[in-house]
Amino acid sequence: MQPNIWFNVCALCILSTLIGLYYVKFKAPFKKYYIFLAMSWMALVSTVASLCNNVLPGHVPVWVLQISNCTYFVAQGMLLPSLLLYVHSLTDHSLSDWKRLVPWMVPAAFSMLLILTSWYSDSLFWLDDGGVYHRGSMIWLLYLVTAFDYLGILVRLVRSWRVIAPGERESIGIFLAISLTAVFLQLVFPWLLVENFASALCVMMFQLTVQNPELILDGSSGMLNKQGFSNLLAPMFDQCRSFQVGFLMVDNYHELEKVYGYTRLESRIGVLVSFLKQHPGVVYARLDSDLFCFLPENQQSDQSWTNLLQDLDEDDLMTHLRRRRIGVRVQMKMGVINCPKEAESFGALLGLFDMAARLPMANGQDAFRLSPVDVQNLRRRKLIEEQVRSAVKDNSLSMVYQPIYDIRAKRFCSAEALMRMYTEKTGSVSPAEFIRIAEDNGAILKLTRFAVETVCRFLRTAELEKLGLNWMNINLSAVDCAQENLSSRMLEIIHNYQVEPGMISAEITETAFTNMPDSVLANLTELSRAGVTIMLDDYGTGYSNLNRLCSMPLDVVKLDKSLVDHVCTSESARIVMENTVSMMKRLNKKVLVEGVETKEQSDYLISLGVDYFQGYYYARPMDAVHLEELFQSQLEPVAP
Ligand code: C2E
Ligand code: CA
Ligand code: CA
Repeated sequence: MQPNIWFNVCALCILSTLIGLYYVKFKAPFKKYYIFLAMSWMALVSTVASLCNNVLPGHVPVWVLQISNCTYFVAQGMLLPSLLLYVHSLTDHSLSDWKRLVPWMVPAAFSMLLILTSWYSDSLFWLDDGGVYHRGSMIWLLYLVTAFDYLGILVRLVRSWRVIAPGERESIGIFLAISLTAVFLQLVFPWLLVENFASALCVMMFQLTVQNPELILDGSSGMLNKQGFSNLLAPMFDQCRSFQVGFLMVDNYHELEKVYGYTRLESRIGVLVSFLKQHPGVVYARLDSDLFCFLPENQQSDQSWTNLLQDLDEDDLMTHLRRRRIGVRVQMKMGVINCPKEAESFGALLGLFDMAARLPMANGQDAFRLSPVDVQNLRRRKLIEEQVRSAVKDNSLSMVYQPIYDIRAKRFCSAEALMRMYTEKTGSVSPAEFIRIAEDNGAILKLTRFAVETVCRFLRTAELEKLGLNWMNINLSAVDCAQENLSSRMLEIIHNYQVEPGMISAEITETAFTNMPDSVLANLTELSRAGVTIMLDDYGTGYSNLNRLCSMPLDVVKLDKSLVDHVCTSESARIVMENTVSMMKRLNKKVLVEGVETKEQSDYLISLGVDYFQGYYYARPMDAVHLEELFQSQLEPVAP
């Protein structure tokens, strides 16, 4: 039967096109891409050799055909071991653990020896005088080696099954199925010459699916994109390897984009990209338009990694950018994250970047390098953020109550409800920490609901009114106040628990007015009309807009601890305090002073005519049982 060369011709067309395309646009900085390119070349060489073997006999000397036959066998024989290396590279991207493959490569090396000596020994094949190919007596050995190679790939595939991405597993499976079918066809119908065509099909399928770098590269910088970086890190996280990921984020990217437009800004960012890329031995990724990441390619690239980190010194980098006339004032944050210690998964890493992005930068600062302590704080913040979302459901929240002292009645008359959070993972977290995080991620609404319900339930069941508690303060955050239905939601809970609205007092800070003054005013007016007392919290910490304060339905102003701290030692602190108290009195507001810690402070404030006191000198925050006991110990109820 005449050999059929047309499968080889097709394979030649497919493979040469794919290899050409690879060089033009399918490159990516993964070892698996280099191995894949080598496989494509082997398939091409094997195809060309096969064509020569079948077209040239009779036209060229036999030694030429000997060479092309040897070449064909060598290229064919290396294809499956390369696929084994490829599968290995999916889990060991730097191939640092290549020694594990050596036992699987021994038979392939042995077959290479047989191929190269076959010219003399005729063991695998021999050529007759016309240069026509004939199978040798030991050709079955090659099939044995091929079977062994398949086994090696299957073992590697099964062992790394969970680590290899599903798309890749399927492609490798299809590769094996197609090439195995071709080997059988070739065994039974040697004239069909279908093996190279099968290889070309496999290469094409790979390039269109798992080897398509467009899926993993960022178009504008040529760096890995989020998917690519995640692919790169996934096996490292899975194997719990220790490694470092550096990051650099352009903090004001979105503001700059508004000013310069996307195209102009991207061309400026190109300076940053080229600055990073001048450090070889490092893999770069651009996860978002404003976020770059890098990690050392392997242990050998330690020096370039160290150099890169040194060059990322805030001042050096800014000088570099200025020298290159980047032309825009970029503000950057940078740092190094130790994985898996500080981020145990790709998701956790992204979470840290997200947190870092939200860290405020100091005024006028252009670059901010996060220290390991900063990273630890981010990690804790991230953990708190996760915990606070489910805090109500997980029963991690509780309320404590700090009594408020009425100086005229000489007894405690009310209390402020303060929230506490305790989880196994975080231990107890200060509200100063978790409330801000809950405000950022929106969980505060659930937290406030919890506070209002807990307080109402407590008021209802303990009948504190009868014990002389005139009202209970609940803290509302600026986010709560901006909700259009805040007042109706609060009043609904208050009514559901059959609590008098007059028993509730809402504490709000000045910041609540800053963003949405209208809805805040509407909420407060409705609450006030229903009987809820409104108190201004933390007076003295912000830039008070007195005009606006006068227009709010405020009953009591709470002076912040910072105004009290130095009244006994500083004349100017006393002047501020005296004037503030007298101004509030003239505005017809009651004055509550927070954070009173000593008798001296208390005596001085009494002399100014302050109405209510709250502070460690009088009482610390306590749980519900102790608050009840405290009020029980005071005999007569007092009018507010
Ligand atoms: P805040 O509303 O100003 O509450 C007063 C804080 O000062 C409380 O801290 C209280 O324990 C503390 N404090 C009271 N007297 C003294 C004193 O004499 N000396 C000192 N050094 N501190 C004193 P806490 O409980 O840690 O709360 C911190 C902040 O967290 C609160 O400040 C408030 O802004 C927020 N917060 C607490 N609970 C809630 C809540 O249920 N909802 C909202 N939105 N915020 C809350
Ligand atoms: Ca408060
Ligand atoms: Ca306060």
